[in-house]
Amino acid sequence: MLFGRRRDLTNRGGHRSLHRSWRLSAKLLIASSLATVIGFSAICANIMLDMRRGEEQLARQTLENLAAGLDADIGRNIELYDLSLRAVTGNLMIPEIKNVSKPILHLILFDHAATAKHFGAIQVFDASGQLTIDASSLDPRPENRADEEYFQVHRNNPDEGLYISRPMLHRGAYSIVLSRRITDAEGRFQGVVAGSIRFSYFHELFDRLNLDPDDTITVLRRDRTIIMRKPFDLDIVGKNLASVRTWNLDNLPGGGSYAGQGPVDATHRLYVRRDNTSPLYVVVGKPLDAIFRLWQKEAIKIGAVMLALILFVLGTTFFLAREIGRRAQAEDKLEELATTDALTGLRNRRKFDAEIDSEWRRAARSKTPVALLMIDADHFKAYNDNYGHQAGDQVLVGIAICISDSVRRAGDCAARFGGEEFAVLLPGVSTTEAFVVAENIRQKVELWSEDPQVTTVSAGVASMMPSAGRDWSDLIAAADKALYAAKANGRNQTVVANVPQLAMVA
Ligand code: GH3
Ligand code: MG
Ligand code: MG
Repeated sequence: MLFGRRRDLTNRGGHRSLHRSWRLSAKLLIASSLATVIGFSAICANIMLDMRRGEEQLARQTLENLAAGLDADIGRNIELYDLSLRAVTGNLMIPEIKNVSKPILHLILFDHAATAKHFGAIQVFDASGQLTIDASSLDPRPENRADEEYFQVHRNNPDEGLYISRPMLHRGAYSIVLSRRITDAEGRFQGVVAGSIRFSYFHELFDRLNLDPDDTITVLRRDRTIIMRKPFDLDIVGKNLASVRTWNLDNLPGGGSYAGQGPVDATHRLYVRRDNTSPLYVVVGKPLDAIFRLWQKEAIKIGAVMLALILFVLGTTFFLAREIGRRAQAEDKLEELATTDALTGLRNRRKFDAEIDSEWRRAARSKTPVALLMIDADHFKAYNDNYGHQAGDQVLVGIAICISDSVRRAGDCAARFGGEEFAVLLPGVSTTEAFVVAENIRQKVELWSEDPQVTTVSAGVASMMPSAGRDWSDLIAAADKALYAAKANGRNQTVVANVPQLAMVA
């Protein structure tokens, strides 16, 4: 039983600061590693985001250039065709025109620009919608267009100007019809002049471009009617987006861009539109997947390398921190072994000397007393002789337990002074208090012992205030002297030595 308790006797307080510094360095290591990892991750994330922004910027620039080129081509053709229409409306109002022959009339009204590839022949309709002049024929077959939307638009709105129709089947080909109102000098409606641009124009225009299959080009009228789209889909052409949320002036203004789902299909694209004044405008789109594909690959690669590095750093850190912890424990253990008496588990003489030295200095600084108990087993030689050395060892362990049970304050130091002699250092304790502790120990030994006559201890108590000319060896000498006095007085008792020498017998 006694041996089982030996381990508990060691006061570990002295190792704490060492242990704490190890713990601190382990924590510091973990904290600095984490800070490094977080810092590097933040820098890496920032670089990746910059790269992503760069990719987007590049794609936007390319799309803007494409949209600008298409806008310019379409705008120029519409302008050219409109010039021809204007020439017709203007010339028709010349009074002499009624008197010229049909071939001359054609020469006056129609220039060659309007006969360009993809352009339909210009036709003139009178106020009732009846075809009167046709650029493609001197004797056109009668036809009436009074029901057509473009005809009604001009009849009802004198200020319409150039009107571009929804895509429609015009003279056997899908086209958009461009028309202008013919107005006489008094502002009365005199009919409509109309021509067309065939879809083949747009097909040829788009086919010249090198595009990915998922890239889109959409030509829209100002009221957001889809005039043409690549990839071509007859179901979409002519559709009006007025009731559709995307691509309105808020999310896709002239000169702006919009990333997300478009009005036609579910693919998320970056859509770009240039600012222009033409009646038609172009929206070009590129799938976001395609824009960020390269970046995504790079991001995954760099991310994987970063993750591996982070795991490596964290793994190494935790491994090192654990090793530091283990080392701290091992050093604690070593320190404990080096300062502990192997038999009793109390502090050894070396530790006691260091402790009394530091406590003496501390007491000198704080002007407090230091008390010392010297405890010695009575007639121990005889005990050894009677019961054997091993039984004597057991008694020494028992006495050590009685001592450590009575000495529990953090600063107290119970040590085996040598052989069967023990020393207990009680910093800040007065003689009277020290006497109580010593008596407590003595009585405990007496109670614990199987034969109170045989196993007893004597104690010498001294308490001193450190002062000039005094050393801690004086304290030991005083306590020792008191111990001798206790022995001389008959043993199993406590004697207090005071300065000046003052003995008190229990
Ligand atoms: P006193 O009451 O005057 O102190 O008498 P004593 O016999 O205790 O004193 P003495 O100094 O003559 O003898 C001390 C004995 O303590 C000598 C030795 O056999 C014994 N002793 C010292 N160290 C140990 C130890 O570690 N184990 C055991 N079993 N005995 C020890
Ligand atoms: Mg003795
Ligand atoms: Mg002795």
